Amino acid sequence: MEKKELLYEGKAKKVFATEDENYVIVSYKDDATAFDGLKKGTILGKGVVNNRMSNYLMQLLEKNGVPTHFVEEIDYRDTLVKKVEIVPLEVIIRNISAGSFAKHYGVEEGIVFDEPTIEFSYKNDDLHDPLLNSYHALALKLATKEEIARIKELAFSVNRILKEYFLSLGVKLVDFKLEFGRLSDGTIVLADEISPDTCRFWDAKTNEKLDKDRFRRDLGGVEDAYREMLHRVFGE
Ligand code: UDP
Repeated sequence: MEKKELLYEGKAKKVFATEDENYVIVSYKDDATAFDGLKKGTILGKGVVNNRMSNYLMQLLEKNGVPTHFVEEIDYRDTLVKKVEIVPLEVIIRNISAGSFAKHYGVEEGIVFDEPTIEFSYKNDDLHDPLLNSYHALALKLATKEEIARIKELAFSVNRILKEYFLSLGVKLVDFKLEFGRLSDGTIVLADEISPDTCRFWDAKTNEKLDKDRFRRDLGGVEDAYREMLHRVFGE
């Protein structure tokens, strides 16, 4: 399928219409933002890494029973996906303390939890994506009770599958953000991306950061970290 008109341009991706209204083409950019868009930059090659890694992981999840929007990788930056209506919730799963969790609760990074945590934020740029719980999400009619239950169930399944997979590559899956969408028949599927932009990856031996925290915190070696994650997944 071919790209038609640009439907939407986000911080890291463009979305194009296709000749079929049930499908769109996502095109990954090298643009990077952090801290609610206050920090901006470019990470050379990031779009390629995120596209390829996300597609690989979506297919791994599909094989393990998680429905996703993935259809077909078109080239290094572009992917055909099912068109969904995004549920305006960012779903964050954590296995190890880091980032805003460590900051909010005044603990150091690196505490391994007995059980993963889940939290939601309301995807709304004007409100700066405020945290909310599932009752708030229901009150705001962001999703139905059944949808929220399904999203939680799928998010924990994704965590079980990906945690084990990344550990086999010598990588700790610290935390990550997921987004879900509704197909035209109402089915909830995993959407958006799973990449070093949306996950925290730490080397299992050294705890070296292999994700967007290198950009957020000006740690240097940003491109190398993305390349290293591509290498771990594809061996190239
Ligand atoms: N995350 C994301 N997009 C966001 C906020 C968070 O992809 O808008 C990811 C982030 O990369 C990390 C996880 O969600 O893997 C948890 O992020 P956290 O809440 O700690 O926020 P941060 O410290 O990144 O602001």
